[in-house]
Amino acid sequence: EIYLDGAATTRVFNEIVESLPTLTKRYYANPNSIHFAGQEVKNKIEKVRFLIAETLNLNYEDIIFTSGATESNNTVLKSLLFSNNEKDEIIVSPIEHKSVLVPIKFLAKNGYKIRFLNLNKNGLIDIDDLKSKISKKTALVAVIHGNNETGVIQDIESIGKICKEKEIPFFSDIVQTFLKEDINAEYIDFLSVSGHKINALKGIGFLYKGKDITPLLHGGGQEEGFRSGTQNTTGILSLGMAIEKWIENKEKYRNMLKKLRDNFEEKLKEKIPDIEIVSENTKRVSHISNIIFPKVDAQSMLLALSSKGVYVSSGSACSSGTPTPSHVLLAYGYSEEEALRSLRFSFDIFSTEEEVDIAVNIIYDTFKNLYELL
Ligand code: PLP
Repeated sequence: EIYLDGAATTRVFNEIVESLPTLTKRYYANPNSIHFAGQEVKNKIEKVRFLIAETLNLNYEDIIFTSGATESNNTVLKSLLFSNNEKDEIIVSPIEHKSVLVPIKFLAKNGYKIRFLNLNKNGLIDIDDLKSKISKKTALVAVIHGNNETGVIQDIESIGKICKEKEIPFFSDIVQTFLKEDINAEYIDFLSVSGHKINALKGIGFLYKGKDITPLLHGGGQEEGFRSGTQNTTGILSLGMAIEKWIENKEKYRNMLKKLRDNFEEKLKEKIPDIEIVSENTKRVSHISNIIFPKVDAQSMLLALSSKGVYVSSGSACSSGTPTPSHVLLAYGYSEEEALRSLRFSFDIFSTEEEVDIAVNIIYDTFKNLYELL
């Protein structure tokens, strides 16, 4: 098996897997209990909160543990429904993850006007377009940092500065870039992260809220009242371990991922010169490569590769039986037909050069077989 889907999720660090019996057995108590066992767990959780705050240079009281980025994103966006200000426009990039786009469509049904930002040729947000769309009616600007399909990195520092000048809250989904890229969070009001993209467990993440929000979940008042429900202590502790390990090995991991991706692209291009590497010359996260193949459709490739043990993704959704093309590639200006020929290959820090070599050969054979059938 060759796993080339590290942008969907990463494999959990061995240290975390090995410490699960301890994390679950020793830190069993409810962190909200006042007794000693509860407070011991609470202290461990607070250390992780401090670590996150320190890593991103944020106020630790504004870090809220959630079940992941989907919850963080929903919290920020749905909170707007309860803010009784007059502003009724949301400015958003057209290449957000579904966990941002779908809540935004929900807001549109509930009175908000959605203004999509234009992209320039490189797949980057057109800053002049942002400037022209911002107005007194803008309630929020939302722009993803590293896109999960193409890897393209937006200039969230410049976007944030513009928003700050106009006193408009700026929200960025940094799921694909947290620890993998340097992030200056100074001009950002809301950030969302999922632990399973950095080798921690699934079902844990956080939200940074630099401004007040209305909680999505009301109840026992955990997380200072911003997210009720007993915290996922094992998840939080796994997140802390993953962040520590990433910080320790940051340069090594970043270089490793970049080398894997660059070698993958170079070798695949040698074998199939007619592929198009999406946003090849734009700044991208190191672990994602989006390839448009000539003629052969991505869904057939994906299934054929899967049957040979090579696991990749396509940006298209297939819930209805017929695949719908990725909204991200369409926003980049690709045709539906082109978008349906794109596959995402992505790496995690357990991927190896040897796997890349084997995968390239399997991808080439699979492509050739399908191409010859056309
Ligand atoms: N945002 C981005 C950019 C993602 O890649 C993902 C994961 O696929 C999410 C949000 C949602 O994360 P989760 O499924 O952990 O809630």
